[in-house]
Amino acid sequence: MTEHSDPSRDRLKQHFAQHVINQARQVLEVWQRLQRQEWSEARMQELGEAALLLQRYAERFEQAEHRLLAEAVERCLQGVADNRGRLTSELIGELNLLMQRLSRTGLRHGDRFEQTLLPPLRKPVYLALQHLERAERLAQQLAFFGMTALPLDSANAFRAAMLERHPAAILMDVDFSGPGAGLHLAEAVQQGLEQKIPLLFCGPADTDTPTRLAAVRAGGQEFFTDNLDASSLLERIEVLTHVAQYDPYRVLIVDDSRAQATHTERVLNAAGILTRTLTEPVQAMAELAEFQPDLIILDMYMPSCTGSELAKVIRHNERYVGVPIIYLSAEDDLDKQLDAMSEGGDDFLTKPIKPRHLIATVRNRAARARRLKARMVRDSLTGLYNHTHCLQLLEDARCRAARDGQALSFAMLDIDYFKKVNDCYGHPMGDRVIKSLALFLKQRLRKSDHIGRYGGEEFAVVMPGTDARAAHLVLDDIRRRFAEVHYPAQPQDLSCTFSGGIAELRGDSDCTRLSQQADEALYLAKHGGRNRIELYAAD
Ligand code: GH3
Ligand code: MG
Ligand code: MG
Repeated sequence: MTEHSDPSRDRLKQHFAQHVINQARQVLEVWQRLQRQEWSEARMQELGEAALLLQRYAERFEQAEHRLLAEAVERCLQGVADNRGRLTSELIGELNLLMQRLSRTGLRHGDRFEQTLLPPLRKPVYLALQHLERAERLAQQLAFFGMTALPLDSANAFRAAMLERHPAAILMDVDFSGPGAGLHLAEAVQQGLEQKIPLLFCGPADTDTPTRLAAVRAGGQEFFTDNLDASSLLERIEVLTHVAQYDPYRVLIVDDSRAQATHTERVLNAAGILTRTLTEPVQAMAELAEFQPDLIILDMYMPSCTGSELAKVIRHNERYVGVPIIYLSAEDDLDKQLDAMSEGGDDFLTKPIKPRHLIATVRNRAARARRLKARMVRDSLTGLYNHTHCLQLLEDARCRAARDGQALSFAMLDIDYFKKVNDCYGHPMGDRVIKSLALFLKQRLRKSDHIGRYGGEEFAVVMPGTDARAAHLVLDDIRRRFAEVHYPAQPQDLSCTFSGGIAELRGDSDCTRLSQQADEALYLAKHGGRNRIELYAAD
């Protein structure tokens, strides 16, 4: 049965859906703030209020998915209240899952291929440039990257826009609406704002130091000169406006005393940290693989083995060399402590320990470990996953797809005639194109997709829950739009295309087969004339 669709009613509904999305954003912001501060009762209450409002809006504007999520969040918070305000690992984990689902409702461009037909939750960027045509061209280029930008032609138009809505970021020409006037305008607008808006300045290449200083003092976080192109602008904006997806730290506690372990768990849970406890050290390796903790807390003395023996066993496994290990023990003999540390431990905390001290140690160590890990798995030029990690993600995704009976597609992309780009425009320009395609993919694919730099100018995309046809739809759209991007260059602007091959997981195929098939499809695309996406066809 199809419903009659009335265009004006649909548009009205879309308009109201925006309210719901804004409120969802509110909930996510409170949740992210909770992470940086203590999880006080007042904060939990704030989260509860935001969720309640979301539920009301979602009901009123008939957004079923948001309503369900808001209700689930409220149920979780009720669970915390029933537990005398005490957070548990289950509740933290559940809340986190809900927040992740909430953050996926209408955030990325690629999501329009999903069931939820919500408009993207993207604020525009305001462009206040000296030349309106230049701002308009830039806005058009930014649109290719999935970012909306609003070119403004006068100081008044800028102020009016600011009153109506705060942008994701401001790009201001220092000379917008008069020599040096842009500086003052930007400064005035930021004054009195509790939360500063990311501000980027641009100006002529020979801008003098006093002007640049004034830009810094006006709150400018970047100064662009001549070569202001959409992709480098977008890259900066991404960094400046990035709200890190909050994912609670995970801590594995190994302690033969249940009472001690429970105490440690309570302290950490109260700070929003997920825990899991083992009282039997021999189970540690299986648990590590399953739980993937950010950090391990070991008791020094247990009946079956000592903490440092267990640390050695853990360190033998390549995968866990980077996971920090903290000993927690009543041992106050310094020599023994040092011995334990030389066996692969990172820190030694003596019981009884102040909760604040324990929390701070865990947070700092875990944060550092995560940063290091992120660096190990990423390619430095593009920030995408490197070849090795990409294959690991493909393998993880394959296991999950096989288990859940879900589709999985794997795509390989390769820039066309890239040697020519290097030859005619130089290697740095080539690098810029690579970075720009990386950004393009990040902007336009779903969060659940994994994007990797497979080699020089080759990329790989792991697309869980996506069959080959859907993958083709998405990537072909990206291909078409990427071809429209122009890079300012001499003697003439440069534009590039890429080709791609897609393979879908079938039966009990393995990752090697899957990537061979994607490669074969890519080969087809290249030989069929390039600038196209081919599917692997089993014959
Ligand atoms: P096609 O794929 O369409 O067949 O032609 P192509 O010109 O792209 O062919 P090929 O894949 O053989 O060449 C890739 C070139 O990319 C070779 C190498 O000089 C260049 N390249 C590889 N990695 C990088 C990099 O990190 N930066 C730059 N600037 N160039 C790179
Ligand atoms: Mg190549
Ligand atoms: Mg190539």
